[in-house]
Amino acid sequence: MRSNAEVVVCGAGIAGVAAAYHLAVRQHIRRVVLVDERDPLTLTSDKGTQAYRNWWPGPDDTMLRLVSRSIDLLEESAAESGNTIRLSRRGYLFATANEAGATRLASTAERVSALGMGPLRTHPGPLPYAPAPAEGYRDLPIGADLLRGDEIHRTFPYLAKDTVAALHIRRAGWFNAVALGSWLLGRAVAAGVTFMRGRVTGVRADGGRVGGVQLSTGDVIDTERFVIAAGPGLPNVLDLLGVSLPVFSELHAKMTLRDTRQTVRRDAPFLIWIDETQIDWTKAERLQLESDPETRRFAGLLPGGVHVRPVDLAHGDELYLIWTFETAPRPFVWPPEFDARYADARGYVDAIVYPENTREMLSLALRAALHNPGPHLGPFVLPAYLTEETE
Ligand SMILES: Cc1cc2nc3c(=O)[nH]c(=O)nc-3n(C[C@H](O)[C@H](O)[C@H](O)COP(=O)(O)OP(=O)(O)OC[C@H]3O[C@@H](n4cnc5c(N)ncnc54)[C@H](O)[C@@H]3O)c2cc1C
Repeated sequence: MRSNAEVVVCGAGIAGVAAAYHLAVRQHIRRVVLVDERDPLTLTSDKGTQAYRNWWPGPDDTMLRLVSRSIDLLEESAAESGNTIRLSRRGYLFATANEAGATRLASTAERVSALGMGPLRTHPGPLPYAPAPAEGYRDLPIGADLLRGDEIHRTFPYLAKDTVAALHIRRAGWFNAVALGSWLLGRAVAAGVTFMRGRVTGVRADGGRVGGVQLSTGDVIDTERFVIAAGPGLPNVLDLLGVSLPVFSELHAKMTLRDTRQTVRRDAPFLIWIDETQIDWTKAERLQLESDPETRRFAGLLPGGVHVRPVDLAHGDELYLIWTFETAPRPFVWPPEFDARYADARGYVDAIVYPENTREMLSLALRAALHNPGPHLGPFVLPAYLTEETE
């Protein structure tokens, strides 16, 4: 079928849905068509840890200004929707156990503060530290608080005892991205946006001007304005226009853990351990890891940046854990192919393991992983003697 639109948006992830909402609801543009080959918000938009921060160390203030404007818009949506998007303002808490890390945190915080993040307060210092509430986002401090010495353990008693500095970024937190996307999409559709299911397979462009878009369904939409919000599909859509940009994809994944013993307090901010980390393997485990060139690196120092946060608000027992150390660029493939070894980690998580059984379970997962031919992620069955430990 042939139709026309003032604007066609390719991609109904959070970016495309937000673009359609702003065009139709805020700018009153008629005949906005949102096109996606899959259900809205189901590619990367429902997979993230859904956190935000106005912490962007440079090289200049471009990203800081961009995200600050985005956070203004998030707060507007939270206010308008009665906070059905569950915006929180608990902050990001970067922590380190070494003095070099503490110096780095302090100097970076001064730089980001100068770029426009807001003031940097140090504790102990002239002003008392103002705690972040578990819920709500209004009337809270901006900038950052740098805590040293006893202040750290008084304020965040659950941090490791050897923590020497903790930097709390205040205009930061998380929200429910699917709730936000659904709210934006509902309002956009009510304002006249049409959703069309199909893959954009061609873009007609004459003399540098867009003239229309073709879909895999055979539909053709005449339009002079085409918004590309294709997420990791961006290079493929740009190919249709004969354009290339220096962008690449990394494969990121998060793990959802059930923290039935509240190892991490439910009112904690987003916790980020910045130091390189060595896992405390037994001698036998270490020898086994070191014996295989593929696993050798896990026996040594692993990069910093373990991120953990409670899921949702103060209730529940789930945590998101993300620790990105696989950063090689990859082509976009769907569904993504993860190393088969992660299937064993999945089994480990599903079993609900008490902290005192962690070593035993990790060792089981590694043994199972070494014998898993992969790459297909099949079901993982725990042996009976271990299921005794489950709830
Ligand atoms: C594990 C993980 C953790 C993350 N944590 C965070 C975080 O804490 N904070 C943060 O800000 N970001 C985080 N991110 C990143 C964030 O999730 C993404 O940046 C965001 O989801 C991108 O949204 P999008 O709308 O651009 O793309 P997507 O949600 O991927 O949507 C793109 C859409 O375009 C469609 N599409 C592509 N090509 C075509 C075509 N040719 N025709 C029709 N449709 C097409 C796709 O079907 C898809 O629906 C994380 C990501 C992951 C994976």
